[in-house]
Amino acid sequence: MSVTVMLIEDEADIREMLSLSLMRSGFEVIEAETAEQCLERIEQNVLPDVMIIDWMLPGISGIELVRRVRRDPLTKETPIIMLTARGEEVDKLKSFEVGVDDYVTKPFSPRELNARIKALMRRTGAASDGKLRAGDIELDYVAHRLLIRDELVHIGPTEFKLLEWLMRHPDRVYEREQLLDRVWGRTALLDERTVDVHVLRLRKVLAPYELDALVQTVRGVGYRFSVSHKQKKKKKKKKAVVDEIATV
Ligand code: CA
Repeated sequence: MSVTVMLIEDEADIREMLSLSLMRSGFEVIEAETAEQCLERIEQNVLPDVMIIDWMLPGISGIELVRRVRRDPLTKETPIIMLTARGEEVDKLKSFEVGVDDYVTKPFSPRELNARIKALMRRTGAASDGKLRAGDIELDYVAHRLLIRDELVHIGPTEFKLLEWLMRHPDRVYEREQLLDRVWGRTALLDERTVDVHVLRLRKVLAPYELDALVQTVRGVGYRFSVSHKQKKKKKKKKAVVDEIATV
């Protein structure tokens, strides 16, 4: 699985040129001519890692598309780069307000856009070398390998997908339903307990390295992956024991 870029641009020449350049840089590219097409793809559960949205689009405008993308829980966090033409500068502020992460002013070189995407992916947690890292965990999502402290670890395909999703979106809490949508796909008719089962399996994979606590249960909400956010379960237990002793 490589980094998928969705490119929404109505001008065929620019779209083709960018698409080619992005593919040469190792990105997987999904093209859309209009905002409507883009929304349709998202509806079909085609979820890119990054979106490049042209400001001037026929029908639904680029900025309106950003608003809608941000409203959808499935794409709310997807990094967005806006393409603007010279003279549209005044609207930059507006675009940041609605949730654009970066923008590139036309004309620009494909190389510049590639660099911006890579910078954005680094900022949002996906390294450009095809590897995700968190503490002692290294997930190679191109070779589909999990390394913990440089040791190759066996992991099932679903657990891999789940871990990849969580590592790409650390420190955020996801409901079971959201994880079903994003990891298993929106069309999957699966019970929310499926998520619990695979979270349990994932913890078992991480447990021998004492890293299972990175996949955290947020009671009444869902799950979170976090290296920085330590769960205070153990502490609480200790305190409970202390309380017990105190009441004896
Ligand atoms: Ca355009």
